[in-house]
Amino acid sequence: MTVAESITATRHAFANGKFKPMLIGGEWVKAASGKTFESRNPATGDLLATVAEGDVEDINQAVAAARRAFEGPWSKAKPYERQQILLKLADLVEKHFDELSLLDTLDMGAPINRTRGTRRRVLGMLRWYAGMAVSIHGETIANSMPGEYVSYTLKEPVGVVGAIIPWNGPLGATVWKVGPALATGCTVVLKPAEEAPLTSLRLGELMLEAGVPPGVINIVPGYGETAGAALAAHADVDKIAFTGSHLTGQLIVKASAGNLKRVTLELGGKSPDIVFADADLGTAVPGAGMATFANSGQICSAGTRLFVEHKVYDEFVGRVAEFGKGLRVGNGVDPDTQIGPLVSEQQLGRVTDYLSIGRHEGAQPLVGGERLTEGPFAKGYFVPPTVFANVRDDMRIAQEEIFGPVISAIPFTDIEDVIRRGNATAFGLGSGVWTRNISKAHRVAKGLRAGSVWINCYQAMDPAVPFGGYKMSGYGRESGIQQMEEYLNVKAVWINAA
Ligand code: ADP
Repeated sequence: MTVAESITATRHAFANGKFKPMLIGGEWVKAASGKTFESRNPATGDLLATVAEGDVEDINQAVAAARRAFEGPWSKAKPYERQQILLKLADLVEKHFDELSLLDTLDMGAPINRTRGTRRRVLGMLRWYAGMAVSIHGETIANSMPGEYVSYTLKEPVGVVGAIIPWNGPLGATVWKVGPALATGCTVVLKPAEEAPLTSLRLGELMLEAGVPPGVINIVPGYGETAGAALAAHADVDKIAFTGSHLTGQLIVKASAGNLKRVTLELGGKSPDIVFADADLGTAVPGAGMATFANSGQICSAGTRLFVEHKVYDEFVGRVAEFGKGLRVGNGVDPDTQIGPLVSEQQLGRVTDYLSIGRHEGAQPLVGGERLTEGPFAKGYFVPPTVFANVRDDMRIAQEEIFGPVISAIPFTDIEDVIRRGNATAFGLGSGVWTRNISKAHRVAKGLRAGSVWINCYQAMDPAVPFGGYKMSGYGRESGIQQMEEYLNVKAVWINAA
């Protein structure tokens, strides 16, 4: 029996078409305004739920609840207790993993094979954060003051964190923000993306079950311009952890100025993926293909600028196009689907606009290039894997983030030249290098201005390894001990011990 047959949208216990309230202070409540919005399956248009639509008043209440929790019992919770909550949450997420991953698939369209494939990553994150909860420590620092001064540091939670997440992987994105907050002792007001709020809300139920005290995690779904903007501007929020587009990132930095709250930003990209002629092309073809096609290109670090050494350009780009053509596009609940729909009509419009911009700029689509509308694709937002050849560096499709399954393939001849051109965008998030020559790989890794360089692989992620951007891809790091520091303040303590 296939997944599609065994668990349909209507039979998913959470995506059951009913009203979903928001989580404030440990209670499930309606929006203060009473307003709701719909969450629909992007593959079929089916209604999955109506969701409480948070706005300024709800954000105010959630921030107040988070502040009370931060200053109340949560501030006294021992690292061990926070660790236990994270471990319990990990166990619950593991127990309900199939249900949660299907919810992601239904709400934002990603193939079930992909969402189920995040199991190790999601559980690994929660358990890694649980380890970090008991590993936070300050330092004793030798100083040169005359006399007998002792100096040491304390690491303290930064306070109330506003977490604003996108829709391209709600389960992982929620854990990526909530995990470090629980590990460090912060409290959270999470605003999921309006396109896909359901998994975060279901996780909220599991968080309460895991023993997260009331007010420690609050979840307020709603639109970016209202709920998101209110959170970013709120005077009693100590930090915003944001993942989304660079344009929204800029608005968040402006909104944060009122109380100079700390901001970390994980933004978009136009990442170079560089293939040398000496690479193992058999590995590089699917590697470079999936660097962009995975999640229908809706990944901020997707390797969308494919630089290929001119000697193998025609052959390699042709093979990537063939590979893209062979991928199965369809409804994400079908276990054979490799490429799901785009998340929304708006996203579909944006991607198809870029498809026509590419053609008008003179790029040539070797495969794809048009929205799919026939038969099973009629009601969804389907764009097939697309490879544009004849792309120049100055074309918009080589400079702007498309966030769709669209590769812009560009030839190069010289290593220094490709490093310079690889860096010649406003962004600096991911990057890839495919070669058998380790000196070349190292030279490119040093030369690229990007937060991650993947050599003979793409998109490898681990909770212990920092991830984040250079330039307009943002600042701050997620994962790694670097992420813990983003949720902590450092206090220096001096003792005159004379
Ligand atoms: P995308 O284009 O990928 O949807 P966005 O940056 O628009 O990226 O959205 C990412 C998240 O930011 C979503 O949760 C969205 O609601 C939120 N958001 C959008 N606009 C604002 C804003 N002005 N202030 C705060 N959050 C916002």
